[in-house]
Amino acid sequence: MALALLTVLPAWLIIELCFWPHPQGASEMLARLGAGPYTTASAYCRTRYGWFALACGAQLALWLALASPLVSRAFEAAVARFSPVARAAAIALACTALARSLSLTFGFASGHLLDRAYGLTRQSTWAWLTEQLLEHALAASVTVAAAAAVIWAAGRFGRGWWLVSTAVLSAGTLALVAAQPLLIDPLFDRYIPLQGTPGSERLMELARRAGFDPARLSVALVSHRTTKGNAFVNGLGPTERIALWDTFLEASRADEAELVLAHELGHWRAGHVALGTALALVGLALAMMLFSALFPVPTPRDVPAILLTVFILRVACLPVENAVSRAIEAQADFLSLRYTNRAEAFIRAEEQLARQNLSDPDPPPLAVWLLFTHPPTSERIAMAQRFARAGSR
Ligand SMILES: [Zn+2]
Repeated sequence: MALALLTVLPAWLIIELCFWPHPQGASEMLARLGAGPYTTASAYCRTRYGWFALACGAQLALWLALASPLVSRAFEAAVARFSPVARAAAIALACTALARSLSLTFGFASGHLLDRAYGLTRQSTWAWLTEQLLEHALAASVTVAAAAAVIWAAGRFGRGWWLVSTAVLSAGTLALVAAQPLLIDPLFDRYIPLQGTPGSERLMELARRAGFDPARLSVALVSHRTTKGNAFVNGLGPTERIALWDTFLEASRADEAELVLAHELGHWRAGHVALGTALALVGLALAMMLFSALFPVPTPRDVPAILLTVFILRVACLPVENAVSRAIEAQADFLSLRYTNRAEAFIRAEEQLARQNLSDPDPPPLAVWLLFTHPPTSERIAMAQRFARAGSR
């Protein structure tokens, strides 16, 4: 059964994602981008999908092996002299270190080497590795802390462990979201205030008009590592801020940068960070209810099986998570058009980002359903066209 799943799942994903036929006849995106950029972006994205499918299969195989009774017992025997909480932490550390080594290996091929082949990265292999090790170490420490918290709660509260764990993990999630701009982001990139940078006046004026404090606009200095462009809003309450990547500001015209900032202001105005966090907490509570049914009183020996379930849930929830994300992004797009009333600049900004990031111009439906956090470029452009038509009526 497991073997069949491990062969069928990646093969199905590869067929549906990498070999999905391109649209018959004239594609709107082909006309917009030109044949060269269209073919390059399609090839880049389809190679990434292929790596995603292989990585999924490999991760599932590894987690099934780690959660097998034989390996779980071996882990338990190796750490038998520790306390239950330390045993859980040690087993979680061993499992997560193996799984993260595997994803680092796949990330090297699908992230670093592929981006280098397509001229999207400016990072040396050493710099890439350092950044990735830091990222994986942070994520692994969250996993280890969560496993230790769960086993501590099971020892202290018995069958009520999941209620206490949900409370502890929710508080941890809130703290991480709020602290991200202050504590986590600076570990990876340097941020400077937008004020004083070339062309910042128009952007600051736009923020002011939307009611956002311009002092909370920053520029992320990422051009030493990537050619891709991006912008984002993060933090909660007093830590909220909007950051624009310097690569995007350098590559785009003033009115295109305004549209992208207006999109982020739309996220801020609609409270999307808080909404996303609230939904994540609801998801966490539902997952913990499921865990309480599967593992009534978990022991350190259950840790690999719990982590396998987490992996399966995370993959299974991708379509729901990304559908919510796409709806939120579409709303931010709409708000950006309302703030600026510049559908034509919006369309240029979308084309500019699609070229700069090699976004899939005509993605397979399964890729959108499973992996797209944003609506495809063609849908975003169609939305702007509808907005312009509605305005001119
Ligand atoms: Zn967005």
